[in-house]
Amino acid sequence: NSGDRVPALIIGSGYGGAVAALRLTQAGIDTHIIEMGRAWTTPGSDGKIFSPMLTPDKRAYWLRTRTAQPVSHFSGGSVDKDIEKYVGVLDCENMGGINVYQGRGVGGGSLANGGMAVTPKRGYFEEILPSVDSNEMYGTFFPRANAGLGVNNIDQAWFESTDYYQFARVGRKTAQRSGFQTTFVPNVYDFDYMKKEDAGQVAKSALAGEVIYGNNAGKKSLDKTYLAQASATGKLTITTLHEVTKVAPAASGGGYSVEMKQIDEQGNTVATKTVTADKVFFAAGSVGTSKLLVAMKAQGHLPNLPGAVGQGWGNNGNVMVGRANQGWDPTGAKQSSIPTMGIDNWADPAGPVFAEIAPFPAGTELWVSLYLAITKNPERAQFQYNSSTGKVGLSWQASQNQPGINMAKRVFDKINSKEGTIYRTDLFGVYKTWGDGLTYHPLGGCILNQATDNFGRLPEYPGLYVMDGSLVPGNVGVNPFVTITALAERNMATIVANDLH
Ligand code: FAD
Repeated sequence: NSGDRVPALIIGSGYGGAVAALRLTQAGIDTHIIEMGRAWTTPGSDGKIFSPMLTPDKRAYWLRTRTAQPVSHFSGGSVDKDIEKYVGVLDCENMGGINVYQGRGVGGGSLANGGMAVTPKRGYFEEILPSVDSNEMYGTFFPRANAGLGVNNIDQAWFESTDYYQFARVGRKTAQRSGFQTTFVPNVYDFDYMKKEDAGQVAKSALAGEVIYGNNAGKKSLDKTYLAQASATGKLTITTLHEVTKVAPAASGGGYSVEMKQIDEQGNTVATKTVTADKVFFAAGSVGTSKLLVAMKAQGHLPNLPGAVGQGWGNNGNVMVGRANQGWDPTGAKQSSIPTMGIDNWADPAGPVFAEIAPFPAGTELWVSLYLAITKNPERAQFQYNSSTGKVGLSWQASQNQPGINMAKRVFDKINSKEGTIYRTDLFGVYKTWGDGLTYHPLGGCILNQATDNFGRLPEYPGLYVMDGSLVPGNVGVNPFVTITALAERNMATIVANDLH
């Protein structure tokens, strides 16, 4: 309520926010999360919480009147359609030269994502975050994050036999024939549940193609893991459909005054509120946190934030591409939505790539192999405040993804030439091969040990912390949420031990 004073306020309920909430509540601190999205706990008129995958409805998208499907085209036409404006689970936020996909709701990105839970290669982690003790990370905090998230591995015998992973076996075979290494990828989707789906014992989610608009079962999203555990302490309050708009030192009594607007399910502002918090944790995601901090600095509310705030943003080198397989290599009408296999060409010095073999769960045989490639694209961008609009933009230009495309081409050109196959040019536009105008993996903008101290504390402002993907310097070489979670675990261990008196 407006006028309240709280000991700890967390902005956002994704990975960084959920870890902060668990560790603060376990330390006995009354903790409040402010989340702009809704709680995904009540079913719609079809009895399901989340929208179906192939016929997305208002629940699928954040405040849009038309869908913005990542694979936007098929066979010469757009696949998008009109929907009702609603506080849906997937935001496609246009940041100038790139569309940034993000989850919205209690659980943040964990609601929408594919659950791939990958611990980064140690050598690369040490390269990108040299100030972090990697013995501690790999000995303590990555294992702690994997356990907290409920990461599990697919039963390999089942993988080899089920129709639902034929697409992945074809992707593996064609990669290996061109000399590329492949590897199984862990996930937070419960593979025992998936086997029961296959056996017809439980309601299908992954095997019904659900992902990106939410999974109605099977996936251990944060509301089922970290946030559930934090709630069980009795010390956590989550306020939904409230968006934080301002953070500034409180006029009296110390702490910070936090302004927010309450929205209805169509996104209209219905109230504005101000509370005071002793400690504020920015966990609004790479884009959300960076936008807020850059605006607060430019508007003079937090003028002493370092110049590194808003710098060093990257798209984790994301590039999507599809290939048309030969007629004798069908990928299957049945496809699990949860990827379990990746092509690992990270050791190629001329083009490091880790590519997920992604499903194309259209419900019919299409002979398509789809890939989400994570490349070592070195390009970075900054968030910039526009004083005439009062909004924060991102400097990323579409051309900055060319290095990522060039790296991915080294893998997929080789596979095409070996297999005598071609790219699908109808999936990301009309005659457009590369899905390079979007990212699922926004990273950076408030980099650890540059914009913050080595544990996420904002200098000059005791009690302000950054705890999400904005700490990671633009690229981590694999899907990012395990890294974000483990870094938050590490930073919170130090903060809980030293900063809570
Ligand atoms: P987020 O999880 O984005 O959480 C931020 C939260 O803050 C959101 O809930 C948001 O609504 C809220 N918020 C933002 N601004 C405000 C504000 N001003 N006030 C109040 N609340 C606010 N990663 C993987 O590792 N594996 C995958 O398989 C994978 N697949 C993905 C698939 C999709 C479709 C998408 C979109 C992402 C995927 N990712 C995947 C990426 C992963 O989900 C993100 O890296 C991760 O969620 C980022 O965590 P975070 O804590 O930084 O922020």
